[in-house]
Amino acid sequence: MRAARLFNLLLALLVTLSLPNCARTQNRPAPTPTRLVVRAARMFDARAGRIVGDAVVILEGDHIAAAGPGLAAPAGARVIDLGDVTLLPGLIDAHTHITYHYDRTGRFGISWDSGPDETLKFAKENARVTLLAGITTARDLGGDSRVVTRLRDEINRGETDGPRLVVSGDPLTPSALRGVAEDDPGERVKRIREFVRARVAEGVDVIKVFEGVDEGGHPLFDVREISAAVEEAARAGLRVAVHAHEAASVKAAVRGGCASVEHGSFLDDEAVRELAKHHVALVPTLYLPTHYLEHRERFVAFDPFTWSFFERLRAGNLANAARAKKGGVWVVSGSDAVAGLHGNNPREIIWLVKAGLTPAEALRSATVDAASLLGLEGKVGEIKPGAFADLVAVPGDPTKDIGVVEHVVFVMKGGKVFKAEARP
Ligand SMILES: [Zn+2]
Repeated sequence: MRAARLFNLLLALLVTLSLPNCARTQNRPAPTPTRLVVRAARMFDARAGRIVGDAVVILEGDHIAAAGPGLAAPAGARVIDLGDVTLLPGLIDAHTHITYHYDRTGRFGISWDSGPDETLKFAKENARVTLLAGITTARDLGGDSRVVTRLRDEINRGETDGPRLVVSGDPLTPSALRGVAEDDPGERVKRIREFVRARVAEGVDVIKVFEGVDEGGHPLFDVREISAAVEEAARAGLRVAVHAHEAASVKAAVRGGCASVEHGSFLDDEAVRELAKHHVALVPTLYLPTHYLEHRERFVAFDPFTWSFFERLRAGNLANAARAKKGGVWVVSGSDAVAGLHGNNPREIIWLVKAGLTPAEALRSATVDAASLLGLEGKVGEIKPGAFADLVAVPGDPTKDIGVVEHVVFVMKGGKVFKAEARP
């Protein structure tokens, strides 16, 4: 039972960990006046997918009041002129693991955190570097509910620097059905509904399900079971994100009504058609296997099976995502940021271009399209009146050279400046 084995390993590792604290540095939020103007040579219009020159964004408090080329600054407003850079909406990472970190030995899976307080400490550092990389909104899929809801709330109260978080808390896995007979579908569905209600009671924002296949290739949760989770989540206004690699598990997830398929690494034609037909987002997490394989010595807990699984992912995931894209599947950017990857989240956008998205499409997948998946359209992912004043700046023109997304020089979230390397 390969999928279950991998997923049990990941779950075991998910419990608690620790990363050497990087030095606390500059880039503390600076107090900003209520009337502020940000100017730059260029701005990315995410909805239109094009660059606009002579960018002017007028802010009021934590929101954007107006944005466009050549707007006049209101009298008395403070002006931040960033010069020859491109303004982007604050970037969105639709798949993170903000609680994952290297342990005290600098590796993953040797020692465990003493409890939620220690995990939170590491998660805060991860949140800080994620924000400084330009990610102003992130959907965290599968962290300890006790840690991620606290982190989200501390960030929202301004006590901790980090992206706006949409959190799932503990994921639904087949272990929620332990002790239930395979031939008791009623009890299985009941347990699934109970699981979702428990997460809702914890105050999560989205439900994460770990789907997979058994030895016979059958989905671990069938369509009816996924539907039950989706229906129960919808009662609370929440959406469901489903981890699924194999085509059969992707199809069960899509037919069950999920909002997004995470990974979707081994699609067949039918799975591509189903994703496109139901307008379910695919978050292909393309860079992650390369990250693991390039830092193999630090992930000491992974067994040979897991490493060969990552090799298979790395070998095939670009072609797989390209096929999905060609088939009309809606692709959204998610880094799957784990230990060592926090702060490098925008690299996924570059990998989406390797998979055949145009730079403008890849930028959309990490801005306006991700906002739509997260149910935050109009609030984040666009530089437009009424949206949060979440802005990042990159040198050059990212529609010509997507590599610049890894070199964010300015980060503003909710009207507060967190990074300003390009400040005049
Ligand atoms: Zn993940």
